[in-house]
Amino acid sequence: MVKIAKFLKPFILGLVMAVVLLFVQAICEINLPNYMSDIVNVGLQQNGIEHAAPKAISEDGMKLMTTLMSESDKKLVNEHYMLVAASDKNEKGEEYSSLYPKAGSMLYVLKDVDESTLDSLDTAFGTATWTFINVMKDMAEKSGQASQEDMTSVKDVDISKLYAIQPVLDMMPEQALSSARDKALVNDITILKQSGVMLARAFYKELGVDINKIQTSYIIRVGSLMLAIALLGGVATVLVSLLSSKISSGVARNLRKELFNKIENFSNREFDKFSTASLITRCTNDVTQVQVFLIMGIRMICYAPIMGIGGVIMAVRKSVSMSWIIALACIVLIGVIMVMLSIALPKFKAIQKLVDKLNLVARENLSGMMVIRAFGTQEHEKDRFEKANDELARTTLFINRVMSFMMPFMMILMNGVTLVIVWIGAHQIAESALQVGDMMAFLQYAIQIIMSFLMISAMFIFVPRASVAAGRIDEVLKTEILVKDPENPQSFDESKKGLVEFKNVSFRYEGAEEYALTDISFTAKPGETTAIIGPTGAGKSTIAQLLLRFYDVTEGEILVDGVDIRKVRQKDLRRKIGYVPQKGILLSGTIESNIKYGRKDASHDEVETAAKVAQALDFISEKPEGFNSPIAQGGTNVSGGQKQRLSIARALATKPEIFIFDDSFSALDFRTDVALRKALKEHTGGSTVIVVAQRVSTIMNAEQILVLDEGRIVGRGTHKELLKTCPQYYEIASSQLSREELA
Ligand code: ADP
Repeated sequence: MVKIAKFLKPFILGLVMAVVLLFVQAICEINLPNYMSDIVNVGLQQNGIEHAAPKAISEDGMKLMTTLMSESDKKLVNEHYMLVAASDKNEKGEEYSSLYPKAGSMLYVLKDVDESTLDSLDTAFGTATWTFINVMKDMAEKSGQASQEDMTSVKDVDISKLYAIQPVLDMMPEQALSSARDKALVNDITILKQSGVMLARAFYKELGVDINKIQTSYIIRVGSLMLAIALLGGVATVLVSLLSSKISSGVARNLRKELFNKIENFSNREFDKFSTASLITRCTNDVTQVQVFLIMGIRMICYAPIMGIGGVIMAVRKSVSMSWIIALACIVLIGVIMVMLSIALPKFKAIQKLVDKLNLVARENLSGMMVIRAFGTQEHEKDRFEKANDELARTTLFINRVMSFMMPFMMILMNGVTLVIVWIGAHQIAESALQVGDMMAFLQYAIQIIMSFLMISAMFIFVPRASVAAGRIDEVLKTEILVKDPENPQSFDESKKGLVEFKNVSFRYEGAEEYALTDISFTAKPGETTAIIGPTGAGKSTIAQLLLRFYDVTEGEILVDGVDIRKVRQKDLRRKIGYVPQKGILLSGTIESNIKYGRKDASHDEVETAAKVAQALDFISEKPEGFNSPIAQGGTNVSGGQKQRLSIARALATKPEIFIFDDSFSALDFRTDVALRKALKEHTGGSTVIVVAQRVSTIMNAEQILVLDEGRIVGRGTHKELLKTCPQYYEIASSQLSREELA
């Protein structure tokens, strides 16, 4: 996987942006439950009152609260509240009377304070509230009455009842108060503050504050904020999707381009190493695997950990006492995922191989359909295909079965976790140790955490697949191409045109034990035809391929126009050569475009001449569209012999200095063969012609004939000479020619 990381380099900016956006998205999503909890806790339960320290409080209220406070809290409160006249006829007074219509003549208002002071004041008022609750409880216990109304659960506190207790509090020894205060401090600080709000609300009510208005405005404020954050998260999500698609498809495009460029430069040795089908799979399927991984990976690899870790932090902040539920759920989840993956992962890897195998069988079957039908082996092939197909289906099914447990398991886990959280949370809420909103938020965090673990585990499926694909791509990319252009290419000797010299050339195919060619030396001169004949497997085509530098010689050297072909650019070398392969290969297009393939600027006359020499004019003119007749992909709409003639025309149109006809006349009938050779002789004029042939009649008139056997030259000379001197040649000739011709 690391191997193809360099392909991400051009997209580094997009990648950084995606990660930043993922952070934004994750942070937004992590914060949403928090706001929801605020709406429930403050907005609904506390009527939108956020602070235990009221903004304004009546004189009686202040007296009651300060009686309950410790000396230091009292000092703090005195410092930050000031006594004002509510009915002053000045601006301030009017403001107070509109805000607090039921206020008496004087009231305490909170000065401008910073956050931390407000926090301390909240704690002071909260502690006072709990001290009050504890005092009430104590009194109830002492008087033997059943606990009166539980203050913590009463929504509307009757303020007059509170003030009725003031004289009792005044009489109370300081010790009793401080012990009640100590008990109050046992509570969680947030619970202290939240309970403080209850009394604050009573004090606001006493002053005639419109609590409904406070509540509505709080809910609207937090609600809009929540909406905005959700929107921001949504926008980030869309942008991340956009970026990740852009990056992954860009990487895929570059990978394909790089692969294609590399393969374009492959010599035959490299093609021998990878099969064509495997190269196609690598360029398409494997690249897609990497692309899919990137799309998922960019989103998940960054997002899941942020969500997971962020979720844990936020959940713990909401309720430390319930964190164990999440820990337990995660341990169970990881355990189950590990077990499942350990079962399924090896199978995932196997699938890749099975797909390859199925491809192989399918490809062989399709390309060899004729042979299979001719030999009536459909049944056998069907079995072979079915075996591969079944195996793939079985493995896929197995994986799906294992994975099908995942969903119900996840549902059980999530619902179980929900149940436990609600159960335990409800008890804590009843004990005033937790607020409803916090429990709801905790629940959402728990689910977020579980989901993030699930996403991470999904990566375990994509990573191995993608890494296999990346490995296969890399294998192609890092293949060393042996046939390379020299660093300082030489140019050809212009005085010699088309002179080919083989000097002691030996060649062995990669991995082969035997030499395909041994000590081959010959010279093919311009204006002459050099023919190579010999039994199949003698090495005739190998000579042609070496001259084209599809392979490099193992020993010896090949000179063209006096220059070693390894010292010139491959492009320059091949431009000199018109090569007609054994199997005519055409590309999709028209007849004209195929003939012009080697020289795009050839005129129509030249194309026509080439076609004429190649004896292709007859069948071309029979077609209604003539030279513009379409050629299907792979040239399937012309016959083998027509293909060969068009290939020959293509080579002729380039007007090369050297012609190589690699057994190019084999699919022609004798009459065409004769006519073609005659026309060729006239047309090729000063070029060097190298003809590989099986038929003696094709090469009888060649200036030089090389007889090849098991990679060695066993005879050379003209037809006549060879009949006398070379028994192998005589053997071939006598099997093909009549007695008269042999003489
Ligand atoms: P001819 O054209 O005379 O029929 P070739 O030149 O095609 O013979 O092959 C010569 C020898 O090299 C044969 O024994 C053949 O099996 C072997 N050969 C041909 N192509 C390859 C290859 N790509 N890899 C390994 N061996 C090969």
